[in-house]
Amino acid sequence: MSYFINVILPIPITKEFTYQVNKDEAAFLQKGMRVAVQFGKTKVYAALVSSVHNNPPEVYEAKEIEHILDEAPIVTAHQLQLWQWMADYYMCAVGEVMRAALPSAFLLESETIVKRNNLDDADEADLKDDEFLVFEALQHQSLLRINEIIAIVGKKSVLPLIKRLIDKGIVTVEEEIYEQYKPKLIRYVKIHPNYKEEIALRNLIDEMSRAPKQREVLLRLFSLQAKSTKPVTVKELTKVANTTTSVIKSLIDKEVLEEYHLQKDRVEYSGEPNTSIKQLNSYQQQAFDEIKSHFENDKVTLLHGVTSSGKTEIYVRLIKEVIEAGRQVLYLLPEIALTTQLITRLQSYFGDQLSVYHSKYSVNERVEVWNNVKEDKNKARVIIGARSAIFLPFVNLGLVVIDEEHESSYKQYDPAPRYHSRDTAIVLANQHKAKVLLGSATPSVETYHNSVQNKFGLVSLTRRHGNVLMPDINLIDIKEKYRKKQMTGHFSDTLLGAIEEVLKEGEQVMLFQNRRGYSPVVECTTCGHSPQCPNCDVSLTYHNFKNQLRCHYCGHHIAMLLQCMACGSADLSTKGFGTEQIEKELLALFPDHSIGRMDQDTTRGKHGYEKIIDKFEQHQIDILIGTQMLAKGLDFRNVSLVGVMNADNLLNFPDFRAHERSFQLLQQVSGRSGRTQKRGKVWIQTYNPYHQILQQVTTYDYEGMYKDQIEERRQYKYPPFYRLIKITGRHKDYNKTILATNWVFTALKNSFGDQVLGPEFPPIPRIRNQYNRNILLKIPQGQSLQKTKAVVKKIETTFSSIKDFSGVRLIINVDFY
Ligand code: ADP
Ligand code: ZN
Ligand code: ZN
Repeated sequence: MSYFINVILPIPITKEFTYQVNKDEAAFLQKGMRVAVQFGKTKVYAALVSSVHNNPPEVYEAKEIEHILDEAPIVTAHQLQLWQWMADYYMCAVGEVMRAALPSAFLLESETIVKRNNLDDADEADLKDDEFLVFEALQHQSLLRINEIIAIVGKKSVLPLIKRLIDKGIVTVEEEIYEQYKPKLIRYVKIHPNYKEEIALRNLIDEMSRAPKQREVLLRLFSLQAKSTKPVTVKELTKVANTTTSVIKSLIDKEVLEEYHLQKDRVEYSGEPNTSIKQLNSYQQQAFDEIKSHFENDKVTLLHGVTSSGKTEIYVRLIKEVIEAGRQVLYLLPEIALTTQLITRLQSYFGDQLSVYHSKYSVNERVEVWNNVKEDKNKARVIIGARSAIFLPFVNLGLVVIDEEHESSYKQYDPAPRYHSRDTAIVLANQHKAKVLLGSATPSVETYHNSVQNKFGLVSLTRRHGNVLMPDINLIDIKEKYRKKQMTGHFSDTLLGAIEEVLKEGEQVMLFQNRRGYSPVVECTTCGHSPQCPNCDVSLTYHNFKNQLRCHYCGHHIAMLLQCMACGSADLSTKGFGTEQIEKELLALFPDHSIGRMDQDTTRGKHGYEKIIDKFEQHQIDILIGTQMLAKGLDFRNVSLVGVMNADNLLNFPDFRAHERSFQLLQQVSGRSGRTQKRGKVWIQTYNPYHQILQQVTTYDYEGMYKDQIEERRQYKYPPFYRLIKITGRHKDYNKTILATNWVFTALKNSFGDQVLGPEFPPIPRIRNQYNRNILLKIPQGQSLQKTKAVVKKIETTFSSIKDFSGVRLIINVDFY
C-alpha cells in the first residue's frame, strides 16, 4: 500500500499537487499541517496538507516530501473551506489565497531571507549542532538566504531547522519590521501654581523688572494663555518671546514656570481597561435593541448612523455581550493606519482582551495573534484588523463588525486574490454562525439595496450624540467668485472669512483637496508641451518641496526643468493645484498659524499618519490640509470648520460609482466638523453648485442619493442588478495587447453576446511600461454565476495555450468595483 498527500503550494497553480509519504507519516499528518516539499527543479516550499490518501497521481511520478514542519495543524478546516470559496468566487488559485492568508513566517521557501534576532539572551547550550552553525554564521552577518544556509549545514532540507530557530527566537524571516510607535514626548510650560493668584503674579512681574528677558517670557506666556486654553509648547514660547531655551529653563528652575509633558500612547497597551462603557442614550438604546432583534432572525444588519451618532458605542455594547458569552469578535476597519484613535478607545474598554492584527506588525507579533486566535485565548477575544484579518483561524467566532462598510479599501485590487473583505467576512461569519453588523454613515448603494430589499436588517440613527447638530453645509460658486474677482489664489473670500473667524476662536480647520487628476502639471506657455512619464501615459506632477517632477504611478522623477523639453522656452507655468500648493498659499495668508499637510507625501514614513494626527490632536497644527485620508473616521474635538477646495473633479471621475463616492466622501469629510457642542460649518467650493449630488450633500439626503443611483444602476445594467467581471490583458507591447484582448473579447462574445463590453483602454493605458486593456462581462440576475465563471476559465485556459499571446497576462477581477 502506498501513501500520498495532496498539498496546496503558495503559488498560482490551479491544481493541488500530490507527494508520496510513508506509512508513519501518513498516520501522523493531518489536513492543515505544513510539509517541506521540492517543487520544480530547485525550489523548496512549505506546502499545506489538504488530504491524505492512497491514490497515486496519474500523469506524473509523485516525489517524496522532505520533512514534516508542524506537530499540529496551523490552519483549520474552516479556513481551508473559506480559501476554497474565495478561489472559486474570485477566480484564482487556492495557493494565491494561501499566500495572502498566512503570515510570512509560515511561508518558508527558498527565496526567504533569514535575519538575526537580538541574540543577547540566546542560550548556546540549548542549540543542536546544525542550529549552532547557523547561529554562529549569524554572528558574522545579519542576513542569510536559505541557499546559504543549505551550504552552511551541508544538507538540502533546512526548513525544519529554520522553523526550530524561529521557534527559539534566534531568527526571524525578512520582512519590513514594524517598529512600535513611540510618540515623542512634547514639552509644555505653564505658569507655576505658586502664582495662580493674580496678586502673586503681579508682584512677580514687578520683581522681575531687573531681568527683562525673563519678564518678557512671562508676559508672552501670560498673553498666550489668556487668548486660548491651548497648551503652550516650549518651542512655541521660545519663538514668540524671541528667547532661548536656557532662559526658559532658568524660569522653570526658579519655579516661576512649570513644565509638563504630554503624550498619547497609541499602539502599545498595557494594563486594565480604564474606562467604563458608556450608558447608551435613548436613540442608541433603541438601535441596539433593533439590532438584537434582527440578530435573533440571523440577519446581517446594517447600522446606518450619521457621523458622530455613537455607532462605535453600540458596537462596543454588542462586543461586550459576545465576549462575555465566551466567543470571539472580529472588528474590521478599512485602514489601520488611520484608526489609531479608535484602537486606543477600544483598548480602554477591552484592555488586553483586544488584539490588533495588521500587515505592518512584525512577523512574530502576527504569528502570536494567529496562535492566540487559534487557541481561543482570552488575549485574542476581540480582533481588530484591516481586510486581511478575515484570514485568522477563528474557532469560536460570535460577531463580525464591519465598520465604514462602504470603504473601497475593503477590496483588494492587486495581487490575487482580488477579494472583497466585507463580502468574504459575511461568508466567514456564516461558517461560524456568527452575527454580522455593517456600520456606516454613508452605506454603499449595494448594501443599502440589500437592506431595502429586506435581505439585510436595517437600523438607523439620525442624531448625533448629545444633541449636537449636524454641520451646516454650504456651497460656494467659485465661477461667480472668479468673475467678481473675490478669489485669493484658490480661496474664495467666503472660505477665507470663515477660516479667520474660526482661528480667532482658537479652533481648528480642516481643508480637503482631492488630488486625483488634479495635481499641478507643468506646461510650456510657448508650445503647450507638458513633460510626460517615460513609463506611464501621464504627465509628471510638480513637487515644490523637492523641486522635482514626479510620476504618481511608478515613482519616476526628474529635477524640475529650467526650459521646455520640446521648444526650449524658459516660460513654464504650473496648471492645476494640489495639496502642496494650497499649503503654500495658506502659509502666505496665515503666517501666524501653524499649517499641516496630510497626504501620501507627508505620511510616507512608518508613523507618518500618527505623527500628523498627534500634532493636530495636540493642537500644534491650526489648519490641516489633506487628501481623502481626512475623510476616514478621525475624531477631533476642536475642529469647527471643514473646507472643500474643489468638489468638481470628484464628480467628473469616469466611473459608475463616481456620484456615490462623491456623496460619501463629502459627507464623511463634513462629518469631521463640530463633533462637540458647537455646530460645525462646512464650505464646499464648486463650479457646479446646482449639481444634484452636491444638493443632496448639503441636505444630508442619503435616501435621495440612493434612489437616483439605484435607478441609474438599473437602467445602465450595473450592480446590484448585474454582476461584473473585469478581464484585463496586460503586456509591454501595444499591438500584442490589442490582439490578445481582441481574441479574448471574441471568445467571450461567442458565449455571452451583448453582455460583453470593450475591449477598451483605461484612461491611463500604460503604467510602468505595461499596457492594460479591459473587457467587461455583465452577468444578469438569474444567470448561473458558476457556469459563467466556468466558461471564462475555459477561455482563459485556451488563451494561455496560444503561442502568439505568450507573455500576455490575463487578470480576472470579479466584482471589480
Ligand atoms: P460614530 O462612530 O457614529 O461616528 P462615535 O461613537 O465616535 O460616533 O461617537 C461620537 C462621540 O460621541 C464620541 O466621542 C463618543 O465618545 C461620544 N458618545 C457617543 N455616544 C455616547 C454616549 N452614549 N455617552 C457618552 N458619549 C457618547
Ligand atoms: Zn515649449
Ligand atoms: Zn510613471
